[in-house]
Amino acid sequence: MPNMSMTKIPMPEQDPKVRNHNFQEVAQGYTAEMAVEEAQRCLNCKHKPCVGGCPVNIRIPEFIAKVAEGDFKAAYEIITDTNALPSISGRVCPQESQCEARCVRGIKGEPVAIGRLERFVADWYREHINEMPQKPKSNGIKVAVVGSGPASLTCASDLARLGYEITMFEAFHTAGGVLVYGIPEFRLPKAIVQNEVDKLAAMGVDVETDMVVGKTYDVDEMFEAGYRAVFIGTGAGLPMFMGIEGETLAGVYSANEYLTRINLMKAYREGYDTPIKKIKKAAIVGGGNVAMDAARCAMRMGAEHVYVVYRRGEEEMPARREEIHHAKEEGIEFLFLNNPTKILGDDKGRVRAMECIKMELGEPDASGRRRPIEVPGSEFELEVDAVIMSLGTSPNPLIRSTTPGLETNKKGCLLVDEQTMATTREGVYAGGDAVTGAATVILAMGAGKKAAASMHQYLKDTYGA
Ligand code: FAD
Ligand code: SF4
Ligand code: SF4
Repeated sequence: MPNMSMTKIPMPEQDPKVRNHNFQEVAQGYTAEMAVEEAQRCLNCKHKPCVGGCPVNIRIPEFIAKVAEGDFKAAYEIITDTNALPSISGRVCPQESQCEARCVRGIKGEPVAIGRLERFVADWYREHINEMPQKPKSNGIKVAVVGSGPASLTCASDLARLGYEITMFEAFHTAGGVLVYGIPEFRLPKAIVQNEVDKLAAMGVDVETDMVVGKTYDVDEMFEAGYRAVFIGTGAGLPMFMGIEGETLAGVYSANEYLTRINLMKAYREGYDTPIKKIKKAAIVGGGNVAMDAARCAMRMGAEHVYVVYRRGEEEMPARREEIHHAKEEGIEFLFLNNPTKILGDDKGRVRAMECIKMELGEPDASGRRRPIEVPGSEFELEVDAVIMSLGTSPNPLIRSTTPGLETNKKGCLLVDEQTMATTREGVYAGGDAVTGAATVILAMGAGKKAAASMHQYLKDTYGA
């Protein structure tokens, strides 16, 4: 008999007043009892609508049935058949607009907590078994993977399993991409990402950090060195600014820079003397998940007031509802329908305030959201000592400008054949944010998987792999 409760089993969380001063994980995961009880809410639907909502088509009812039986190892094996990084996607996937949006239990209540169950299974496996994969027998064919975010991790893992000799080239000193330098520790602990990188190393993947492809080494040199194919998963890390007065003042950051300093330079750890401004009052400009992460980090780094300044209303915010809710609980102040007009400095060139103008919503624009319109004469000064711009990112032009034969669209995203992920240069494949612009972890993973399958086909056809 299924559990007909209309609501999900709640996930234990740290108290907001405690967690807004530490970097430990906010959501603490289900216990085995909770997971079994939640799994019993699944109706094991014959037509499986939830599976169609998952970009990597995890066999959701099958794995949930195993959780309900208490066979967590079998559940893990079902999930990892199509998803190599479940402890990551179970934490950061926008489930509410993907698998859970299609769950029939959501019609008259809350959907089954698919993401939480996926996270539980992956964490259970890591804590109880955590078997490192064996190194597969080499087929002697070398493949280069550029970048080490979810697209590259997935592509490298799938190709390594097939026996290819993979070298992964990462610009930063740590592998993991946005999973380590963007998403904060309190949402995705770095040890979890490192465990996935360790699994790649166990399969024989050589991870070369501090390698900026396009500067230290380039794609032509990779082919000359005997790599038969290259995957580009370099993400979209180039931040946008507003182009308003005062953006060069000391104390203005892009969210990417601010988060990278905290995450990669370990400012989140007690006792690390990372060069980062001690902010008293921060304004975060933007309304996406990145803005929420920057705001919540600023609060944890000791800011007394953290404002999110967003030109539309709460309804229009692109950030996940859960993240907005968590941010509000932690004391972040939201200034909806406000837009910065200039940043004001003191006589030492440091931020002292941000001038904003009030907005109102007009007719829907091309994005379908109501267009924000300035209210004349409503300017006011918001006293802050730091401004963190979180307005979106685009792919860095370095790879494109140093690799002959690669074409991009107007936004600088690499052009690929959507079926194969092949770029416009033979032997070079791409996927993730470098192709789509800023998107999601699971889409990047799906693209890495698709690319690995077609690279294998290409290498078989061309080199008899
Ligand atoms: P990335 O993760 O960006 O990795 C690219 C890697 O390539 C980086 O490590 C970079 O250093 C490296 N690189 C770049 N250029 C070079 C070069 N020339 N040579 C060598 N290496 C290079 N998505 C979600 O689904 N859920 C979330 O909750 C979520 N939160 C986010 C929070 C933040 C702060 C940010 C910034 C993004 C968030 N995203 C989230 C989006 C998600 O992280 C990305 O869509 C995803 O990481 C893209 O993966 P990728 O593999 O394409 O690239
Ligand atoms: Fe849902 Fe994401 Fe897991 Fe797919 S990977 S089942 S979309 S949480
Ligand atoms: Fe279970 Fe919901 Fe999927 Fe039906 S739609 S199988 S109830 S998770």
